[in-house]
Amino acid sequence: MKKIKRNRIDICNICRETKPLSWDHVPPKGGIKLTSIEIQGIFELISGQTKGQKKISQNGVKYRTICSDCNSKIGTEFDPELNKLNKTIIEFLQSSSVLQKYSIIKVKPVRLMKAVLAHLLTAKHNIDEVVTDSKIRETLFSDDISIPDDFHIHYWIYPFNCTVIMRDFALPAETGNYANCAVANMIKYFPLAFIVSDKENFRELDSLSKYRNLEIDDVVNLKIDLGKIQDLDWPERVDENNIVFMSAESTNGIFAKPR
Ligand SMILES: [Zn+2]
Repeated sequence: MKKIKRNRIDICNICRETKPLSWDHVPPKGGIKLTSIEIQGIFELISGQTKGQKKISQNGVKYRTICSDCNSKIGTEFDPELNKLNKTIIEFLQSSSVLQKYSIIKVKPVRLMKAVLAHLLTAKHNIDEVVTDSKIRETLFSDDISIPDDFHIHYWIYPFNCTVIMRDFALPAETGNYANCAVANMIKYFPLAFIVSDKENFRELDSLSKYRNLEIDDVVNLKIDLGKIQDLDWPERVDENNIVFMSAESTNGIFAKPR
């Protein structure tokens, strides 16, 4: 893997042009309020190294890896859909007095998927030629190239105030079945988590990518399962039924919590 330290003017993770780079925030701006956080390497956490370096950021998790043109395209084309969905879920969680098993929310799934894929691209310090990334680049701003058939995006409710980003790692797609491993990328932040992998079925989660062939502004009723709450460190926690394989990039994965 080619490893390049990112400069102020450098290659954009999305358009690959050399330009002044700008900050991309996870969660995206316009969603929940950016606060002061403490960031730790996810690799150190998983492997139980408690002495890992901690970084402080005053305004959330951010990556200076894309140019301002790509940044503003993501901010106008895709982020509003993701922010709107998250806001609706938060309102629902706060207002509902009855325990409901699931909620149905109207979304534009293609814009939503592209938002998730865009932030996966930006959440990477190394510039490399991973196939996943070049496929994301092709589909992201194109109306003609749909999200590839071997990209499967699953989601689940994530009622925790910690942000986790992991890139290019592998883990069983089915609990305990080490013969069925998925190559995955993951973004978790309140109130929803997404995992993008090469497996059509992943731990019985609901699929967003089944809507891949819709037009960009088609609307569906998305089911949000409120009954299946997973742990904070699911599915990356290593135990007797789970293993995680890391790549050089996954060692840059982060776990961020409010200070
Ligand atoms: Zn760019």
